[in-house]
Amino acid sequence: MKELATITPEDKESLAQFLGSKRIPFQTRSQTDPSGLELIEFLVADDDWENACNEVEQWMALAQEQAEKKERNRCPTCSSPHVEAAAVNEAETLTMVDVVYTCKDCGRIFTTNRRGQSIGGRHW
Ligand SMILES: [Zn+2]
Repeated sequence: MKELATITPEDKESLAQFLGSKRIPFQTRSQTDPSGLELIEFLVADDDWENACNEVEQWMALAQEQAEKKERNRCPTCSSPHVEAAAVNEAETLTMVDVVYTCKDCGRIFTTNRRGQSIGGRHW
């Protein structure tokens, strides 16, 4: 088995359904990162891994798109809608895809991890 992705529990159902629809068998394992955040690790067979990675990229892109639409990003400090996507930060493996935003009004830098929580003890 190889690690495919590590996601938050709230996304677990969505990814599980997605992999099911692609007929990719998987296992899940929960883990807690050093900051106490609960994460779900998805594992797939070595033979399926490459294919599954490609599929998961699609899923992540979709999830990200939906999250962005839902949020219409606003600055968490001054509520300004004038924010600019500064960078996409892809962690080592296919874990979280974070988009980093900069507020044009107050200069605050923040990420949208779906609902804007901080992930993995990173502070913005
Ligand atoms: Zn601001």
